[in-house]
Amino acid sequence: MVCDKQQADMEVDVIISGCGPVGALTCNLLGSLGVRTLVLEQDLAPHGQPRAFSCDDEALRIYQSTGLGAELQKDMRENRFAEYVGETGKRFAEVHTGSADFGFGYSPLWFFHQPKVEGVLREGMGRFPHVKLQVGASVESLEQDAAGVTVRYQLLQTGETRTVRGRYLLACDGARSGVRKALGIKMSGRAYGEPWLAVSGSVEGDAPELCRFVCDPKRPAFVATGAVGQFRWEFMLMPGETREEMERPETIKKLLAPYIDPERVHVERAQVYTFHCLNAARWRDGNVFLLGDAAHTMPPFMGQGLVSGMRDASNLAWKIQRVVRGLAPASLLDTYEEERRPHVEAVQKLCVRVGHLFLARNRWVAGARDMVMRALQRIPRVRRFIQGFEFKQPPMHERGYYLGGGHAPESAEGTYFIQPKVRLQSGKEVLLDDAIGNDFAVLCRANAPSAQVAAARGLAEALGARLLAVQSSGADGSDVPAVEDITGKLGDWFSRHDSDVVVLRPDRFVFGAVKAERLPELRDALGV
Ligand SMILES: Cc1cc2nc3c(=O)[nH]c(=O)nc-3n(C[C@H](O)[C@H](O)[C@H](O)COP(=O)(O)OP(=O)(O)OC[C@H]3O[C@@H](n4cnc5c(N)ncnc54)[C@H](O)[C@@H]3O)c2cc1C
Repeated sequence: MVCDKQQADMEVDVIISGCGPVGALTCNLLGSLGVRTLVLEQDLAPHGQPRAFSCDDEALRIYQSTGLGAELQKDMRENRFAEYVGETGKRFAEVHTGSADFGFGYSPLWFFHQPKVEGVLREGMGRFPHVKLQVGASVESLEQDAAGVTVRYQLLQTGETRTVRGRYLLACDGARSGVRKALGIKMSGRAYGEPWLAVSGSVEGDAPELCRFVCDPKRPAFVATGAVGQFRWEFMLMPGETREEMERPETIKKLLAPYIDPERVHVERAQVYTFHCLNAARWRDGNVFLLGDAAHTMPPFMGQGLVSGMRDASNLAWKIQRVVRGLAPASLLDTYEEERRPHVEAVQKLCVRVGHLFLARNRWVAGARDMVMRALQRIPRVRRFIQGFEFKQPPMHERGYYLGGGHAPESAEGTYFIQPKVRLQSGKEVLLDDAIGNDFAVLCRANAPSAQVAAARGLAEALGARLLAVQSSGADGSDVPAVEDITGKLGDWFSRHDSDVVVLRPDRFVFGAVKAERLPELRDALGV
């Protein structure tokens, strides 16, 4: 089919196919950046059933950047402790998620109720007159040329067909992405043979707070107290067990019995899933980009499937805005896959490794694992690595849109900037991102010589970025807007990276951190 762009019923900057959690988040990010967006969703109402259950500090920071962080966090539960137990129920590893602090403003493990999150994101889209959601609209086909994409979609209630023209199309249409298939992009990787039964529900009366990986070769399971009174139990199916048999209420009761009195459980959803660990051969085709499950899937052992899609959205939204506004060349968009794919692949590998640990099926192997894990944790460094959750993949880009082209050992470029609390000049204490907004930002030391501060100001103005001077606690005022570094962490960061000025990208990755004399180099790299 050829869609004539002259005949499109509507024209926008960005069309999004699919309003699942990744599509809805992307919409909010684009909306807050002023990008005209139409999102097409085939279903009339949000999914309504919980699938994703946990997220992390990076996810919370991304939600914060949409202005919906507090609203979303209100219905989340911070998980402070996770444990791995063996066949006998004896713990062989524990992760102290409540005290782990990677510096990004939040602790690293949170449980949420997906329907609540999707509800808030959908409502949040209503804040932007330039963002439109069309539900009951199924994307049918697309045509692209050098200038953009024309999408044909069907309104499922009336059967009417419409077209929309956009500069870019973002496929957020999930693991079975029709857009990806239409472009002939293949997925590769591996499917996990063992299906899992995921049971969600609530519990009558008091219930223990827990987050437990049951690494019992007879029946690997995951049991956790979630947000808003929700629980999650996941059980691996054993050879010969069928979906029908596992989803039966009496089977579910039997499976729950070792963990809780099943009569107190109100099951809201019980469904068998098979998890895949797949990656699309390419995440971009001309003016079409794949995000979230459309681009990659992974088993849920680290709770990183949705979070990875959120990182995609956070990485791409501001790049699209800058290109659409004519502030950056279209080549900036090539850095989306360049930056994100290696991170996703690393997270997938980690999920698979954790899966191996979790899913040992042989009793003797599982017993040996428990012993080795306990023994290893007598070594303080290993104990810290496990208990401090240091095995989680750090957010970092080896290559991409950075001064010097990416992260070199010990360099700040390509790393995720810290987010400590700061005090505003009004006296109010906020997390750093709330002080710097959602565009580029330039931070400099407040006590720098005035010529340096002036140079940093020149850079910020040329970039259209907010400039903030970082004062150490109790320092005197500065002639540029300042924040007080009440924890001392920003000052330490500047010292550790031997720099006076840092430029943060809108997604809060460090574009460049330099001594004042290297500011011209930074400006060159930014093209301003
Ligand atoms: C049991 C289970 C547990 C999980 N636990 C976690 C976890 O704890 N943490 C985590 O981070 N992840 C977890 N995940 C993964 C997570 O659920 C997914 O990664 C996430 O839902 C992907 O979001 P998405 O928006 O990319 O895709 P989806 O949620 O699949 O949304 C795609 C949307 O596109 C729409 N759509 C599809 N085709 C069209 C079309 N042609 N036209 C218009 N609309 C269309 C669909 O209706 C849907 O609304 C879990 C998954 C499962 C199954």
